[in-house]
Amino acid sequence: MSKLNIRTKFEFIDRDREEPSKRSSESRRHEFLEIYAPFQQQEGEAQSERCIACGNPYCQWKCPVHNYIPDWLKLAGEGRIIEAAELAHQTNSLPEICGRICPQDRLCEGACTLNTDYGAVTIGAIERHITDTAFAQGWRPDLSGVVQTDHKVAIIGAGPAGLACADVLARNGVKVIVYDKHPEIGGLLSFGIPKFKLEHKVIKTRRRILEGMGIQFVLGANIGQEISFNEVLENHDAVFLGLGTYTAMQGGMPGEEADGVYHALDYLIGNTKSLLDIPAGDHEFTDLKDRRVVVLGGGDTAMDCVRTAVRQGAREVHCLYRRDRDNMPGSQGEVENALEEGVSFHFNVQPLEIIEEQGKVTAIRVVETLLGLADESGRQRPQPIDGSERRIEADAVIVAYGFQASPENWFETFNIQTNQWGLVKASAEDEFAFQTSNPKVFAAGDMVRGADLVVTAIADARKAALGIVGYLNQ
Ligand SMILES: Cc1cc2nc3c(=O)[nH]c(=O)nc-3n(C[C@H](O)[C@H](O)[C@H](O)COP(=O)(O)OP(=O)(O)OC[C@H]3O[C@@H](n4cnc5c(N)ncnc54)[C@H](O)[C@@H]3O)c2cc1C
Ligand code: SF4
Repeated sequence: MSKLNIRTKFEFIDRDREEPSKRSSESRRHEFLEIYAPFQQQEGEAQSERCIACGNPYCQWKCPVHNYIPDWLKLAGEGRIIEAAELAHQTNSLPEICGRICPQDRLCEGACTLNTDYGAVTIGAIERHITDTAFAQGWRPDLSGVVQTDHKVAIIGAGPAGLACADVLARNGVKVIVYDKHPEIGGLLSFGIPKFKLEHKVIKTRRRILEGMGIQFVLGANIGQEISFNEVLENHDAVFLGLGTYTAMQGGMPGEEADGVYHALDYLIGNTKSLLDIPAGDHEFTDLKDRRVVVLGGGDTAMDCVRTAVRQGAREVHCLYRRDRDNMPGSQGEVENALEEGVSFHFNVQPLEIIEEQGKVTAIRVVETLLGLADESGRQRPQPIDGSERRIEADAVIVAYGFQASPENWFETFNIQTNQWGLVKASAEDEFAFQTSNPKVFAAGDMVRGADLVVTAIADARKAALGIVGYLNQ
């Protein structure tokens, strides 16, 4: 065995898993800046060399886009960043973004062979390192081998699904126009996910790259209002929909209409628009400075709300979740970050009522819970404990219970069918992947699978793009 092979195979014994360093929790409490520092070249190489190339890369299978993880780790370990970035883009349209915000503990890193005994390879941070470094070195997609076609496709929605579809179509010689009602691309990447997880300059860089590939963006255009869907459909050979899901789920408790109760996404979008100095539109800015804030929910959106409230200077920030910490749906890393930043968590607590005085929130009445038998989804159902009711004082409550489908009123006119939950019917198993009941219309991302993840929206939309190419070439 050569010296190089010995080093590659056993590096994980000598070298611990090291995550990128974080800004101090004190400075984080005041800034809307990404909290993780990038890996330096040497750190990136050293952490990449911990991969044991185990032969059955569970990480690759668990990653929804099936990234060639061991292969690009090897290239990164050898300092071959441009080749690593090229390989990363073969399976993922937004690797610099997934590297930052995928819940790696549940995906690639959770499946890493080293995870249990030695600490997983820091796959996400290395994916970010590869892409950011390659961009800085001038890497751009090489489309010199692409044969341009006469096909023209419209994409509605510039979120991760729309962007991934645009990327794959452009690489297949299709002319792409992307419409979005927001004044910037990114969808929830720009307007939902806070800047301390993903800074706006990352989206701007990606926009330049996509525009350099010939993709055209028409922004501030609400399809169905400013431009009719019919016009878009008539003027293109196919249309892809990546509209997301935006109907906030209600808690269903008394007091939810009181002044001082906010929906998570309205709150987050309002804050982002204010930071970016974009007109608020439907999303008024809410300032929680000096207020006692209670956030209801245990997912990533709830974590984004508590951490935004901390940065706005809230006096107290509490997060209420009806199950225990192990059962939280969000990333454990984000819970840890929120704890470091001073958020108080109340586990096994169920809200019963938002108490108001003269129409304004003053407190929330809660009951303690015990986890009982599993429900049909396999998760233990929280049972209220008699006599354990109590009050938590609050003057702002944010409801972060997730999102439901928001089907457009023009779907029916154009025979775009939805299921009983309002999600558009389109499947990877269709003859042309993700084709809807209107053969000329394709759809993917949250509006098809329900609110999920950036990487799953990318995975499905990339398949949809190939479905569109097949449809155009039939
Ligand atoms: C607060 C929050 C935090 C999250 N954090 C994470 C995270 O850390 N990691 C992760 O993996 N996932 C996270 N997610 C989930 C992730 O953001 C979504 O799963 C993903 O963005 C879905 O992509 P999409 O393209 O389907 O939809 P979206 O990102 O919602 O994009 C849809 C786009 O369509 C546009 N649009 C809709 N209707 C029209 C119309 N009629 N005309 C023109 N444009 C239209 C919208 O303006 C929007 O830009 C988070 C979600 C939220 C809400
Ligand atoms: S895309 Fe997400 S799951 Fe896949 S390797 Fe990157 S960080 Fe891991």
